[in-house]
Amino acid sequence: MTPPMSDCILVFNAGSSSIKFALYGVEPLESLLFRGEIEKIGLAPELAVHDAAGKKIVARTLPADLDHDGATREISRLGKDLLHGQRLAAAGHRVVHGGTEYAAPVRIDSEVLAALAKLEPLAPLHQPHNLAPIRALAAHAPDLPQVACFDTGFHRSQAPVAQAFAIPRALSEEGVRRYGFHGISYEYIVSRLREIAPHLAERRLVLAHLGNGASLCAVRNGRSVANTMGFTAVEGLVMGTRCGAIDPGVLLYLMDTHGMDARALEDLIYRKSGLLGVSGISSDMRTLRASQEQAAHEAIALFVYRIVREIGSLAASLGGLDGLVFTAGIGENDKATRAEVAAGCGWLGLVLDEARNHAGEGRISAETSRLEAWVVPTDEERMIARHTASLLGLSASGLAAPP
Ligand code: ADP
Repeated sequence: MTPPMSDCILVFNAGSSSIKFALYGVEPLESLLFRGEIEKIGLAPELAVHDAAGKKIVARTLPADLDHDGATREISRLGKDLLHGQRLAAAGHRVVHGGTEYAAPVRIDSEVLAALAKLEPLAPLHQPHNLAPIRALAAHAPDLPQVACFDTGFHRSQAPVAQAFAIPRALSEEGVRRYGFHGISYEYIVSRLREIAPHLAERRLVLAHLGNGASLCAVRNGRSVANTMGFTAVEGLVMGTRCGAIDPGVLLYLMDTHGMDARALEDLIYRKSGLLGVSGISSDMRTLRASQEQAAHEAIALFVYRIVREIGSLAASLGGLDGLVFTAGIGENDKATRAEVAAGCGWLGLVLDEARNHAGEGRISAETSRLEAWVVPTDEERMIARHTASLLGLSASGLAAPP
């Protein structure tokens, strides 16, 4: 018997040289059908697709001249091929910046797209790439509903004081303020905690998204209170290639004495700093952990030191701390980073359970720990699929009226 035709949602997470994608069915709710990536766009693009069990089902090299538009078309073609009679009902997108206007997910039309394009100067390295697949789909599949979810959205619950810089008011009003990022990931983690650790989910938490990009978020009652990223995603922690917090006087010094302009500084603080810059070896934590070089140890030590200091700062913003949650590539996989961060949080009452930290999922703190520590894998694509289905009122029987 043929199963009933069900709606599917194609989720896009587009970066400068890669587009990650995932296809979800809405019935049963958020069932992952496959996920994949086109990497090295602009160089030697490669496509890889895995099924829900993680088995590679497609791997091929794509034409070297493939751009974001072509990559999007390739992905939607592939999506349709892999649907097996199910209906592609919508596309959901990760969009880094929603500015002050867009906090909640929004259905995209030409007006919304124009407003999001105006935010490109606020996130020049991300926003144009996020919008490229939206434009491509609007041109090639104009009837497909599209939804944007924002990395900044989760943080709009913060008090005005947490979102402000101490600069002249006119600049703040123009939009020069702390926005915060990784919000889709944090929102997903909160939703997961409500399922797996309901006793903790509404308490005072620091969520640590430690990947190539890295940030911390203070959360109370499931809402963002403060975070380490600011006006841009370069602020805060040491990252793979981004420097994190830096005295703005350093940038003035480099302009005056090294003749650096905005583009040169951008290159320095976004692409040449962080773990890569300090180690001189790699931006990748696995490579640094495997290295015997002193510079690799120093880069990791700085990475951990900054996390520990910022946890203290966020604990102050919450008036105390009940839980610490690790997520993303390093947070989920690097038990040494978790152990080193936990050691720095001993003063807060955190005691790690070594065996649990080694196992690396769920609660990793000891029974005696005053503060709970957890590892919770993030899933930004699933969160986007959830928002897209909910905003559009999607169900197994097709597009329903929004609730
Ligand atoms: P992105 O921000 O690009 O999504 P990820 O969340 O995938 O990044 O995180 C990438 C980081 O995670 C890299 O530094 C990588 O070395 C690290 N990582 C991934 N797996 C492991 C592992 N098993 N041990 C240590 N670090 C890991």
